[in-house]
Amino acid sequence: MQYTDKYAIREQNERIILHTIIQNGPLSRADLAKETGLNKGTVSEIVRVLLARKLINETGIGSSTEAGGRRPILLQFDQKAALTVAIDLGYNYLSSALMYLDGETIHETHRENYHVNRQTILAEVERLFQDYQSRAPETHYGISSVAIAIHGTVLHQQILFTPYYDLANLDMAEILTQKLGVPVYLENEANLSAIAEFAQDRSKRDLVSISIHSGVGAGILLDGKLHSGKNGYSGEIGHMILFPDGRPCPCGNHGCLEQYCSEKAVLEEFGRLKGITTPTIADVKAAFLTGDSETKALVDQTAKYLAIAINNVSNTFNPEIIYINSRLVDALPTMIPLVKENLTSFLTASITIQPSTLAKQAILQGASSIAAQRFLKLNE
Ligand SMILES: [Zn+2]
Repeated sequence: MQYTDKYAIREQNERIILHTIIQNGPLSRADLAKETGLNKGTVSEIVRVLLARKLINETGIGSSTEAGGRRPILLQFDQKAALTVAIDLGYNYLSSALMYLDGETIHETHRENYHVNRQTILAEVERLFQDYQSRAPETHYGISSVAIAIHGTVLHQQILFTPYYDLANLDMAEILTQKLGVPVYLENEANLSAIAEFAQDRSKRDLVSISIHSGVGAGILLDGKLHSGKNGYSGEIGHMILFPDGRPCPCGNHGCLEQYCSEKAVLEEFGRLKGITTPTIADVKAAFLTGDSETKALVDQTAKYLAIAINNVSNTFNPEIIYINSRLVDALPTMIPLVKENLTSFLTASITIQPSTLAKQAILQGASSIAAQRFLKLNE
């Protein structure tokens, strides 16, 4: 056997053991051998390495085997071995958090009405990182990595298309990795939300998470794996055409879904109807609750468009569950039954649609999750 092959197998076995401890720990060495199918010698050797790397620790003592004998020492993942920084670059906000490897938040910040600027964004991220370094609690590895959510298309660490701010082709990952001295990962925000939903409930392995913010995007997980597509455009459901020759869209087409039912589009339409320059979700909610007929019609129409998107997504991927991550849906929970009313095809009859339980935390949680997974080399 080639040395490189042996090395690759060893790395793979390390991943299997660490993953098993994270998912099912605390476990004894014998439990690990049983669950992974690896022999006890291999398990002991890898456990020794993981203990030395401070990624796991020994905890308490398990119950003795049926045959009697020594009670085994249990092993558990040390989620406080390292920290991650998650950053969400929204079209009109900037959120960030310092987290442990399991997503437990130590500190977070949120700036509303923040507008991403190509000239200043790198310095802004550097400032955030330095601030978190000064706040970071003592851990073995310190801040291990940074993950940034981009509201646009990302492929292999490159930003390809950002319709509502100008970051396309800015090599953020490379420049920031050099500046900060830790790996910096970029990922699409809807994909991160889907990853966060899956981390909450791993029983549903085919899922779609629809994010409705500046645009409308979907994160698609098939059998628990993110489906990005050849160019990273998978899940760009905001650009499915709802009305041929409809409203122009920054993608180059006309009549794209997100020009009609994104949060931005709904707020703009509400503002136009009511003569308000900068309407908020709270304004829409208040008008809806007073029974205002124009607002009710707008909400009905938005639910109908959303149902068309869900119908198309469901007929393409047949997911078990569709999560909706939207401040508008959170403010007006009646939108979910309204959407369901519009799904009349027998093909969509069995689909579960529910609002994200993570809401605005989903993107940061997903970002922290990919940063942790890559630090722990669990995603290869
Ligand atoms: Zn478009």
